[in-house]
Amino acid sequence: MTGIPVGISTCLLGKEVRHDGGHKHSRFCTQVLSRHFDFRSICPELEAGLGVPRPAIHLREYRDGLRLIETRGTADHTDAMHGFIDEVMPSLADLRGYILMAKSPSCGMERIKVHNENGNVTRRDGRGLFAEALMQHYPLMPVEEEGRLNDDTLRENFIERVFAYDDWMQNVAGDRLTGRALIEFHTRHKFQLLAHSEKIYRQLGPMLGDLKSEPLADIADRYITLFMEAMTQRVRRGSHVNAMQHLMGYLRDSMADEDRKVLMEQVQAYHRGEVPLVVPMTLLRMAQRREPVDYLHSQKYLTPYPDELGLRNRV
Ligand code: SF4
Repeated sequence: MTGIPVGISTCLLGKEVRHDGGHKHSRFCTQVLSRHFDFRSICPELEAGLGVPRPAIHLREYRDGLRLIETRGTADHTDAMHGFIDEVMPSLADLRGYILMAKSPSCGMERIKVHNENGNVTRRDGRGLFAEALMQHYPLMPVEEEGRLNDDTLRENFIERVFAYDDWMQNVAGDRLTGRALIEFHTRHKFQLLAHSEKIYRQLGPMLGDLKSEPLADIADRYITLFMEAMTQRVRRGSHVNAMQHLMGYLRDSMADEDRKVLMEQVQAYHRGEVPLVVPMTLLRMAQRREPVDYLHSQKYLTPYPDELGLRNRV
């Protein structure tokens, strides 16, 4: 099986590409995610020609914008970095996500220190030059910092987004776009949308009601922009309970009273934080398998990513 193409900062794979010749190996990435993701690694500083080892660099703010300057001295690597970014960016169009190394003036996604012309820190809300270009160029692509993947909720959310975006890229984007492909995608992800944002869920259905009113590509652009915005939102326990209760409505005729009672008990236990999401979700999947309801069978909400990632054991 070929994995999902996902970009990653090279040092996270354990390669010694940092300025001091070290690495930032992430075992979660190399031992767990690599079973599902086909990582494409980039070290922007190395590939922009800065070499290893190299002097440490940081962001400095000048009138014309942020520049990458050596921490000791004034050597400026901004043009080399921009040259590399311009060259590499078009080749990343097929990636379904990106995992960045934190705190780097090149790869850092947030809270990067910005210095003034004298090298003093003036703010801490910068973003690395490569990360900024990546997120501007591919605003729909799920991007996360490796450190934030230690948080169970952020980790689950990022991986769910990568799998959903992969579905879009494989089955709807580009030449594959048809009205049917768009509607089938929406149908598959309805309950995920409902869980993430009921507000956006209610906007997206009507958007697909008349696919002849404007060019399909325009509708698809608006659709996927809102879809990915919804998927970025954290799912609260109450929203999962709401989505699961909607699902149970479809299983009304196929569940025995006792099974339904047990399921309801576990949904409520999940709501109170006593059991993880995997418990009621497994019961729902059992009920669906026993009496398959076609509409539910296609729902990504029941299996948004491979079970072996164990993500729903921890949220
Ligand atoms: S953070 Fe980015 S630029 Fe720095 S070593 Fe890692 S991959 Fe290279």
